Amino acid sequence: MEIIVIPCGPVMANSYIVRREDSPTCAVIDPADAPLLYGELQKKGLTCTHILLTHGHFDHVWGVADLKEKTGARVYLHEADASMAAGKAAYFSAMSYGLKPCTADEFVREGDRIEAAGLTFRVIETPGHTQGGVCYAVDEEKTVFTGDTLFCESVGRTDLGGDIHQLMDSLFQKLYALGGYTVYPGHEESTTIEHEKQFNPLNVYRDHPWFS
Ligand SMILES: [Zn+2]
Ligand SMILES: [Zn+2]
Repeated sequence: MEIIVIPCGPVMANSYIVRREDSPTCAVIDPADAPLLYGELQKKGLTCTHILLTHGHFDHVWGVADLKEKTGARVYLHEADASMAAGKAAYFSAMSYGLKPCTADEFVREGDRIEAAGLTFRVIETPGHTQGGVCYAVDEEKTVFTGDTLFCESVGRTDLGGDIHQLMDSLFQKLYALGGYTVYPGHEESTTIEHEKQFNPLNVYRDHPWFS
């Protein structure tokens, strides 16, 4: 499996170009800068068929409209983040001024399996950072793309329409079940589930009665 990470866009979200090594097609996860990513696709001779979105925040969907227009790729997003991605939510309204509205071709749900780029992406609903936050697991590669649900030794903020209780459930119940997986987050460097089980500062809440 090949994973190219390109931090880009208005606040440097990690955009990922992903494929099985021998696949002429690829998926792009959270395209934040269309010209930059399209240039990379052309350089490598790759065709993007799927745009997979971890959530609807402007910094992750900034390049969606333009990349879709250039490639004809289908866009996948959870329905609960659709209005946010379309630029209709109040959050970030000033910062996202100029955002081209992003619309999904398909809404994803827990357990969906998306065949793309020679790989299978399994949808894991992980609300908390946003209501429609999802992670994409490539089980045969023990890899998970977590968006802003989980970072290296951190998690995404929950003060912009999120819910800390939901985020804890998503982290402890769902992501921590992915033993041995490598984590590719929405910002900053990659990590592993085992590392996070040991060092994530939120683990102090793991057995806290508030979050049980
Ligand atoms: Zn976010
Ligand atoms: Zn983000």
